[in-house]
Amino acid sequence: MPDSTIPIRVTVAGSINMDLVLRCDHFPQPGTTIVARSYDEISGGKGANQAVSAAKAGAQATMLGRVGEDAFGERLTGRLKEQGIDCRHVLSTPNCESGLAMIMVDPAAQNSIIFIEGANGRFTPEDALGLRDVIESSDVVLLQLEIPLETVREVIRIAKAAKVRVILDPAPVPSALPEALLQVDLICPNEHEAEQLTGITIDSVDRASAAAASLHAKGAQHVVITMGSRGSFLFDENGGRMIPAFITDAVDTTAAGDAFAGALAVYWAQHGDLDQAVRFGNAAGAIAASRMGAQPSMGTRSEIEALWGSIQ
Ligand code: ADP
Repeated sequence: MPDSTIPIRVTVAGSINMDLVLRCDHFPQPGTTIVARSYDEISGGKGANQAVSAAKAGAQATMLGRVGEDAFGERLTGRLKEQGIDCRHVLSTPNCESGLAMIMVDPAAQNSIIFIEGANGRFTPEDALGLRDVIESSDVVLLQLEIPLETVREVIRIAKAAKVRVILDPAPVPSALPEALLQVDLICPNEHEAEQLTGITIDSVDRASAAAASLHAKGAQHVVITMGSRGSFLFDENGGRMIPAFITDAVDTTAAGDAFAGALAVYWAQHGDLDQAVRFGNAAGAIAASRMGAQPSMGTRSEIEALWGSIQ
């Protein structure tokens, strides 16, 4: 295991949400009221999740984004700060709510979700330009697609001009993804997102290779397609190879992809070896899948290293 003490600055520009989870015996019919069994307030948003993953994997993580000027906004940034994440550049948005999801879960674990993007939708390209110094002084910038696409595009532009490494997790996939967003150092869709982006169903390693080659041809320098319990398919100028998953008893795969992206970013920036970075990301994804929840399920650096070291 290489030196883990090299300080790495990871900047995440992305979404910050509160998930309000109500467990109930059944979903309410129109016009009726039901009593919930329990209620949880869970910090989420792919951006915030990936910042937590990067911080736990040992980075100096900085979050860029917007929350509302409401109680959830304060709580969300407060919890990120508790994880050691620099939130000085998380902007507060007057007259706007924080990103919020109301999630009902029934005993069969089916869910019904109402979502509002809130302040995440107000994170503008001008905001990104105002944060240029932060972006330019990063070792790696990590992006997803839960903020306006034009803002993602502007962050990519600023980072590339400053030769800062850019990783895009293209989730959720929009109906039309501008090709400018594919001009990144690494793109890391899961298999469903890769299919949405390329039209290629990923039902074999050969098809993963075809989808990855297509994203590479469109401008992504390196492509990683995450494939759940099978692991990750890595493609670059040397061709493609499967990097197997770590075997784990999965209990909740929520945010496994976010854990993967954050940890991969840290290791790649630290050591420059992408095959090993994907392996490190796989270990982080396996740990997240083996525990309940999103941010609390993510492993620390020492936990990731312990799993990594358990199989050579
Ligand atoms: P997403 O959460 O975006 O759908 P994946 O499910 O592909 O992403 O998970 C990301 C990575 O996490 C995988 O490539 C794999 O390395 C790891 N992972 C996910 N689920 C499991 C699992 N059940 N067992 C072991 N590793 C897993």
